[in-house]
Amino acid sequence: MNVLVINAGSSSLKYQLINLETKKILAKGICERVGTAEAFHKHGLDQNEVVIDAEMHDHDDAMALVLEALTSGPTKAIDSLDQIDAIGHRIVQGGWYFDSSVLIDDDVIAKIDELAELAPLHNKAALMGIHACKKHMPDKPMVAVFDTSFFQTLPPKAYMYPIPYELYEKHHIRKYGAHGTSHRYIAERAAVILGEPLDELKLITCHLGNGCSASAIDHGMAVDTSMGLTPLDGLMMGTRCGAIDPAIVPFIMEKEGLSPAEVNDLMNKKSGLLGISGISNDLRSVREASEHGDERAMLAYDMYSNSVKKYIGQYIAVMGGVDAIVLTAGVGENCEKMRRLIFAGLQPLGIILDEAKNRQRGFEREISSDKSRVKIIIIPTNEEYMIARDTYEIVHERSQIVPVSAASA
Ligand code: AMP
Repeated sequence: MNVLVINAGSSSLKYQLINLETKKILAKGICERVGTAEAFHKHGLDQNEVVIDAEMHDHDDAMALVLEALTSGPTKAIDSLDQIDAIGHRIVQGGWYFDSSVLIDDDVIAKIDELAELAPLHNKAALMGIHACKKHMPDKPMVAVFDTSFFQTLPPKAYMYPIPYELYEKHHIRKYGAHGTSHRYIAERAAVILGEPLDELKLITCHLGNGCSASAIDHGMAVDTSMGLTPLDGLMMGTRCGAIDPAIVPFIMEKEGLSPAEVNDLMNKKSGLLGISGISNDLRSVREASEHGDERAMLAYDMYSNSVKKYIGQYIAVMGGVDAIVLTAGVGENCEKMRRLIFAGLQPLGIILDEAKNRQRGFEREISSDKSRVKIIIIPTNEEYMIARDTYEIVHERSQIVPVSAASA
């Protein structure tokens, strides 16, 4: 079974075609700057990637180009669209409606639209992706996989904010989390690597990339996570501030004369590593500057690691212990210096990094010392595979249902 995984952004359309039986990626690519004169389409697997300048007025045009690239010319991966069995869509906000992935129908589309209030850019973009697929492949089953659904197991004490309860009732203000597909994937893989059932483990999963989040997963269920109503909360990130004193918001609005949209922009796009270092949101550039003695870069580095360290401490307290800490994404997978800082001083908690293992490169690997009671594991995330797997499971299950007419014949 081949699943086309679609991740639509407001001006982009990212895709992968995955064969579920072989777990092989047959093709992948991205249409970027959709709707602008600079639109282009990158298609292909790593070394064979080609970049095509193309006119794309909207996501419908982008989808047409993707399907053409998949089925014809030098970029061809399949003979015809018949070889796409189903489509899986990444949806950022599933709100209170979705605690798991679902088959897309009109009701699901209406709910994703309703939830756009909580994630305007993301959910509207996902809908453009869904409509484009419906237009070009009207008969294919489609599945929605939500970034938030993994966190619907959070207890009220974790997802409620201590503000007037009526605001929760009126506006659904609560913690929804994000990066759920990534946390779910690395938790499942960690259980396999540890050789123990997921429902017998206490895990802290850390997705540390440009966006950062940490989760406490107790016996297979998410019990807390760092991102909140929006993905701005929690850890310090590339350009996002993460958790700050909420009183800072009205304070800087007043002092700097900023509107709500401007202060939102400041916290989402001008803060984090970029805001503190004044150099970049990219940790590699910040690290280089810190190694040349730039004090603000050093401070940014220290603050980032300290922010992760504090969440590890919190979640150990929340779960009453931890069996393994799992790291993923650009920083978690690649930056040995950041990992060293994060785990420095945690020996009293039974968390000991093995310096030599930490320096080694590789795929999935354990980097804790043999003396460490708590395992530290690196697992490259694979959200696209999870979306394809959910799609396969939901569509496959549906295909087992005997149609009423056939059963009564
Ligand atoms: P992601 O959002 O998962 O693509 O991660 C992006 C972040 O990972 C950026 O801050 C990069 O600087 C960081 N990153 C990627 N590779 C490395 C590396 N080798 N060393 C340090 N940071 C890295």
